[in-house]
Amino acid sequence: MGRLRQMENLRKLLAGTYRDPDTGEFLHVPMRMLKIEPSLAGCEGDLIKALDLPGPFAVLSDDNTHEALGHRIEAALKPLGEVVAIRLGKRPHPDDKTAARVMREGEKAGSYIAVGSGSITDLAKYSAARQGKRCAVFATAPSMNGYTSVNAAITVNGHKKSLAAVSPDGVFIDLDVLAKAPKRLIQAGFGDAICRSTAQADWLLASRLLGQTYRLAPFAFIADLENELIADPAALLKGDRAALSCLIQILLLSGFGMTICGGSYPASQGEHLISHHVEMMPPEGWEPALHGEQIAVTTLVMAKLQDDILERDVPPELGASRLSVHRLRSHFGEDVGLACWKDIQPKLADDTSAARLNERLQALWPRLRSEINLVRRPAAQIDKALRDIEAPRRYGDIGLTRTAFTDAILHAREIRNRYTFLDLAADSGLLEPERLID
Ligand SMILES: [Zn+2]
Repeated sequence: MGRLRQMENLRKLLAGTYRDPDTGEFLHVPMRMLKIEPSLAGCEGDLIKALDLPGPFAVLSDDNTHEALGHRIEAALKPLGEVVAIRLGKRPHPDDKTAARVMREGEKAGSYIAVGSGSITDLAKYSAARQGKRCAVFATAPSMNGYTSVNAAITVNGHKKSLAAVSPDGVFIDLDVLAKAPKRLIQAGFGDAICRSTAQADWLLASRLLGQTYRLAPFAFIADLENELIADPAALLKGDRAALSCLIQILLLSGFGMTICGGSYPASQGEHLISHHVEMMPPEGWEPALHGEQIAVTTLVMAKLQDDILERDVPPELGASRLSVHRLRSHFGEDVGLACWKDIQPKLADDTSAARLNERLQALWPRLRSEINLVRRPAAQIDKALRDIEAPRRYGDIGLTRTAFTDAILHAREIRNRYTFLDLAADSGLLEPERLID
């Protein structure tokens, strides 16, 4: 079966034998062990032993992940030394308060063993970094691409931040456990995987138009797996082990892609900016959806925008960016508005730079269009895949109001100095959220 062969890319990356398609050099990732098995029952202790992590082991879980796998890990580690069980209750938030609790309860531990998905892993990786400890992860759901990344999403004083974290020494996947993960988590993982398409298109645009560095590797090692997954996304909901393996491999590779590129470029562009805006300025009383659920919805918006713009035979005509510090401050508030304004200066266009970019676009357009179209998926294809796995597709599916969502699409580009199709569209008068959301 093709999917087993494709474990090859992960294996090569870990062994340092995957060649960078850009340079021909071998790529390296900061992880020592990675297992994806039909079941890990009976070998949990051996895996940790093989990593030779310092004890005692602080095993991090919440009520759900403890039941799914945590109790098994705790029992398996006891023969190896002292185990500190840190149970974080029903649905822990990866915030400064919870992290402080983890660090307090795990103070005398030598290593954190995370048993869970996004929140638990982020708390373990972040706490380990702060306390100079090591960490390993037993994943319980294919829900996001953070298992292998060296950042953690932690909410500090109510603001979600991407903070430095350690790379786990090992990540271990039991496909039986993944198959029993809540449906929503699997759908979310698909969302955080399928945004590869819009992110790559955005990054290619920035690279070709503005001369930013672009890397092939993070897309090359995912391409075959993504093609397999998209051929039958519904298999994920049936617990198909090969499909689950495919999805988790993509998510693990996506995390490595960010590490290799020294930034989130290959996995986070316009679609993540829109999602981020939603979280910064949510409608009153909004209950946040899962990260990947939001990304599913925002990816569809970006894919439609890219459809619209790439359909044009002639390139959009850019004008000066119509933004001002005043506008940003009145939208985001004084402090955040000012911080965003400072951050986005490099990508803003004035009349002179707009004219220069237009010249470049004119010369580039036919080649740029075909280059991007070659690597992206049309909105209709992404929409169908999301429908197949019953994932959220429209703003209402994630509890958003129309105003909050159109607002997010309009202002997402103001958050960060990352040039995407949102900028190209906005600066050429083509950003019309109403066209993109139904
Ligand atoms: Zn993401």
